[in-house]
Amino acid sequence: MDTARITSSPEARARLIFSRDIWLWGVPNCPLCSEKHTHGAEFHWRGTHPRKSLGHRVGHCDSSVSVERQGVGYVLVDGWPEETDKLIVKHAADVERAKVRHAIRERAKAQGVAA
Ligand SMILES: [Zn+2]
Repeated sequence: MDTARITSSPEARARLIFSRDIWLWGVPNCPLCSEKHTHGAEFHWRGTHPRKSLGHRVGHCDSSVSVERQGVGYVLVDGWPEETDKLIVKHAADVERAKVRHAIRERAKAQGVAA
């Protein structure tokens, strides 16, 4: 294991994933531990662009990585921007449906009815 102290956060290339009502950023090759990690990006029904959730994150590394290295975390960057754009276009209708489902759930909650 490399025990060298890292004091700044390395970049982690992330790939956008679509899963039910949320966007996820998958890190296939963590710069700290070389393992795979997944981070929540955004709920579809919020309609927020998933790229807004890129940036610094606490590493999801397991205990094989020293606390010092885990502590610096990493900076999520869009590693496959063309795929990201295609995926967002591909799932635009799903995002709209998720917004509608969410609005229906919220209305039912406000009326005290189980959705
Ligand atoms: Zn890791």
